[in-house]
Amino acid sequence: MNKLTVDDLSVEGRSVLMRVDFNVPLERGQVADETRIRAALPTINAIIERGGRLVLMSHLGRPKGQRVAELSLAPCVDALQKLLQQPVAFVEDCVGQAALASAELLNDGEILLLENLRFHREETDNDPTFAAELARLGDVYVNDAFGTAHRAHASTEGVTHHISQCAAGYLLMKEIDYLGKVIESPAKPFVAVLGGAKISGKIDVIGHLLDKVDHILIGGGMAYTFFKARGYGIGTSLVEEDRVDMARRLLDKGGDKIVLPTDTMVTDELDIKQGLIGGLKTTPVDAIPEGWYGVDIGPRTILQYGQILRTARTVVWNGPMGIFELAPSAEGTFALARMMAEITATGATTVIGGGDSARAVGDAGVADKVSHVSTGGGASLEMLEGKTLPGVAALSDK
Ligand code: AMP
Repeated sequence: MNKLTVDDLSVEGRSVLMRVDFNVPLERGQVADETRIRAALPTINAIIERGGRLVLMSHLGRPKGQRVAELSLAPCVDALQKLLQQPVAFVEDCVGQAALASAELLNDGEILLLENLRFHREETDNDPTFAAELARLGDVYVNDAFGTAHRAHASTEGVTHHISQCAAGYLLMKEIDYLGKVIESPAKPFVAVLGGAKISGKIDVIGHLLDKVDHILIGGGMAYTFFKARGYGIGTSLVEEDRVDMARRLLDKGGDKIVLPTDTMVTDELDIKQGLIGGLKTTPVDAIPEGWYGVDIGPRTILQYGQILRTARTVVWNGPMGIFELAPSAEGTFALARMMAEITATGATTVIGGGDSARAVGDAGVADKVSHVSTGGGASLEMLEGKTLPGVAALSDK
């Protein structure tokens, strides 16, 4: 990466304004999962150990420009203090006099967390005046929020026009390094596994990866649109009617590279919102009965995908193989997660896209047994589409 990194900055005695991704789940006013906070610790520690005066900013949820008490970043102060074993100051706005005064009170090695950026609509609007206000809080700027690097917001893009040295943090560097390497120079065979609800969100990924991969294994809800394109009956399974032609064209273009499931788990009773699922049975994909809904890949597909994955040297995975939130239809996704751990142990590089796939490797207990779990669902997808992330492009060149 040809961008300034946090190692290039001189931070001693200077205010370091750093964008982090503390968009954490909260339960009863407390941080329910501190994974994202932990992910920022290496950069935080490096800056405070070198005597920087650290001003942290993040968004949390979607308050849409309103001050929403339940979406305050205040609970992150406790979590951060515990992890760092040092006090962290908090200010109830991210711009204005109070924020400026709190930042000026910082001594070398001290930390201030600003209130939720998205309490101001100007953040997502990338408003230049708001960006300039944020920039007053830092002599130098660091972006370590990979999860929002695909958005040109005031704190990820606008602010960089007002600070001369803008650098990448370690998390951002690690993400770009893994995902970049996978796309630019993967060890072969290179296999992509794509699942999730809809084909529409992943068409550009399939298009971009087709020339680079040896195989794309398809699963999840999007598989049924491909089955329909093949002319199979799909019962009541998820389908995007307006994408059937596109799916057909992809199958024609991809040839043997695009591998579809051969069997599927189906149910005749499903209410996803209520978490209700009836009994499951296995069926070949060209014999899904009328009125039945496809919820997961079948056991034969798990074996077939396993055989292909065992030959791979590089694997990237984005999107679950079935409705993994419901235990009866989680097996395909979890079997794949275990397979990722198995092939990583034999030397393959395995990169798990963020979002649901990251959750699945976590739930399967193998998050630390794969090469890299991305912290950004949308951002990692955009990298797989071959796009440059605005939050990365905006950083200073080396
Ligand atoms: P995405 O955000 O596109 O990666 O989709 C993730 C969601 O796809 C998860 O919530 C899964 O429950 C859902 N999903 C996976 N397989 C199916 C399926 N066969 N039918 C409906 N939804 C599915």
